[in-house]
Amino acid sequence: MKNIIMTGDRPTGKLHIGHYVGSLRQRLELQNEGNYDEFIVMIADAQALTDNADNPQKIRDNIMEVMLDYLAIGLDPNKVTFCIQSLLPALPELTAYYMNLVTLQRLLRNPTVKSEIKEKGFDSESAGTPVGFANYPISQAADITAFKANLVPAGVDQEPMIEQTREIVRCFNRIYKKDILTECKTVLPKNESCYRLVGTDGNAKMSKSLGNCIYLSDEPEVIKKKVNSMATAPRDINDPGIIEGNVVFIYLEAFATDEYFTKYYPEYKNLDELKQAYLKGGIGDGTIKKFLNNIIQDELEPIRERRKELSKQIPEIINILKEGTNKAIELSNKTLEEVKAAMAIDYFKDDSFLNDQIKKYNN
Ligand code: ATP
Ligand code: MG
Repeated sequence: MKNIIMTGDRPTGKLHIGHYVGSLRQRLELQNEGNYDEFIVMIADAQALTDNADNPQKIRDNIMEVMLDYLAIGLDPNKVTFCIQSLLPALPELTAYYMNLVTLQRLLRNPTVKSEIKEKGFDSESAGTPVGFANYPISQAADITAFKANLVPAGVDQEPMIEQTREIVRCFNRIYKKDILTECKTVLPKNESCYRLVGTDGNAKMSKSLGNCIYLSDEPEVIKKKVNSMATAPRDINDPGIIEGNVVFIYLEAFATDEYFTKYYPEYKNLDELKQAYLKGGIGDGTIKKFLNNIIQDELEPIRERRKELSKQIPEIINILKEGTNKAIELSNKTLEEVKAAMAIDYFKDDSFLNDQIKKYNN
């Protein structure tokens, strides 16, 4: 079987360390292993418009921000196809056909969409939920199946979308009796603490929309300020520390390798040792924040510097995006053709429709 990797992000802002640990690091690993036939990364502008319809300029501006982040972390245009969602005409067409395979009740049971509706205030009577927003899991199924992807590296909030996609694939293949669409699975981060990185404010998710992010492009001073502002429970330094729900430790789980202990905190060999000592008391939160700041600075410095260099090559990057989009248009059109043939709505592809009608009407 072919390995086809497909994933993407909404151009609603620059990418942050939640994206990095939740999905980008995994993409890099898959890219570097090289065990795939296609690797598509989509900038999901049409999806971003489902809850930003009144602000198209924001989406337009963030396409390049996201592209710079991709290239700065090391995604390689020779190995990955980058494309812009709204330029692929097959996607809304596939979405329209898939909408007939999902009930409204099933669509609205999606836990991620439910919590996003609350978070965005769409549940208030005066606002309401845009139909396009509620429908985005189906449009995401179109994105994934258009490339027949089997692997989707993404954060854990995407699991309900992947489940919805699998259901659509099974339903399509059952009704139209063709094995055209492929079932996919999520590739989650290896480290469970990265499934859904909390925000710097302790909110359950670091998210562009919540303003609680450390961006990949943040300057050193900004990073330091954000790390220092993380809320930890006030206590006397000699009192036992609390790790459960401690934002700093959640980030350490995601980033603190043993090498970072050797470099910045040689009193301890690894995170387990530090945790044991912290629980006993005697280690102040300022100390662990300083350690975390050192780590994040080390992680982000090369990304930030590469990003600055890349921002001098905008025409080349636009070209990468254009070429990738053209390739993605071709690939997705091919799947759409197969889908339409399976659904028997490819009327003028050859003479079979004509011949059937001639036979039926005997002329
Ligand atoms: P928005 O607020 O516009 O929805 P976002 O920050 O949630 O933006 P998305 O573009 O929706 O980002 O998500 C892109 C990818 O990053 C998805 O695979 C998602 O699971 C992952 N991701 C986003 N935030 C986090 C996080 N805090 N921890 C782990 N993964 C995340
Ligand atoms: Mg999101």
